[in-house]
Amino acid sequence: MKIIDGKILAQQIRENLRLKIKNLGLTPCLAVVLVGDNEASQIYVRNKRKAAEEIGMECEVHHLSAESSFEQVADLVQKLNANPKVNGIIVQMPLPQHLNSDKILRLIDERKDVDGFGLHNAGLLMQNQPSAMIAATPKGVLAMLRSTGIQLTGKHAVIIGRSNIVGRPLAALLLNQDCTVTVVHTLTQNIAEITKQADILVAACGCPKLVKADWVKDGAVVIDVGINRIDNHLCGDVDFDEVAPKVAFISPVPGGVGPMTIAMLLENTVEACEKQMKETK
Ligand code: NAD
Repeated sequence: MKIIDGKILAQQIRENLRLKIKNLGLTPCLAVVLVGDNEASQIYVRNKRKAAEEIGMECEVHHLSAESSFEQVADLVQKLNANPKVNGIIVQMPLPQHLNSDKILRLIDERKDVDGFGLHNAGLLMQNQPSAMIAATPKGVLAMLRSTGIQLTGKHAVIIGRSNIVGRPLAALLLNQDCTVTVVHTLTQNIAEITKQADILVAACGCPKLVKADWVKDGAVVIDVGINRIDNHLCGDVDFDEVAPKVAFISPVPGGVGPMTIAMLLENTVEACEKQMKETK
């Protein structure tokens, strides 16, 4: 069994991005919209800003109060859309309950949609168009799979979870890599019978240690997207100790998909910046 070390992979990607930015002749700028005082969101935003600044990217955080109206958030997004200095915009989720997240995400200019959550980029990914800005977590999962050197073509990939930010875009992405893709979810019957057939198993359901040894085929590749906190301790959706001895490759939590997600967000921002520079030439 080999560990897919997301921390080391992400570090290499960030170093390449740092060198790229050095030669770009312009400092890419990522704008983060943070609404309210969700503690986890504040930590995520702090980590994104730190990672951006370490590679020479500017990261401006726009912090609005939890009581902000839809119009106030929308107004900020529109201003960031119109600001030529800003190359990428993300709205940190979750938003306070009274705000419609989907409606706000749809306001982000598709060229600056570095989370890839907007309809335009999701549609391009669905149609296997190379110009799609791919959501950071699925993009990170693909990079981790590629790092193993295994052939993806024809492999059966099973994804647990069908959210718009992980499961669904990942299904499209792996289909575009010529995998045979099955998505299972809360209403799927006999999940273990299906996951046992997977050459590649990705768990993205937010259920601590749901995936047990008898859910997994010998020699499979397992990527654990889940981040769950139990008694102040982080764990994934896979029971790592049980599953690891059976499989060819497995990603840990922490130190797996998490750091890759941030690295891919930075990569999307640099790519957005490069495209925007070409457009204005
Ligand atoms: P979500 O709650 O939006 O979606 C979860 C999905 O899993 C749903 O489609 C649901 O049908 C399915 N599901 C839930 N319980 C299930 C079960 N028992 N059996 C089968 N399917 C089940 O969550 P999300 O935003 O997609 O995130 C999923 C997990 O990934 C969470 O733990 C989240 O914290 C983590 N996450 C990690 C990163 C990262 O960077 N590592 C990024 C995004 C999400």
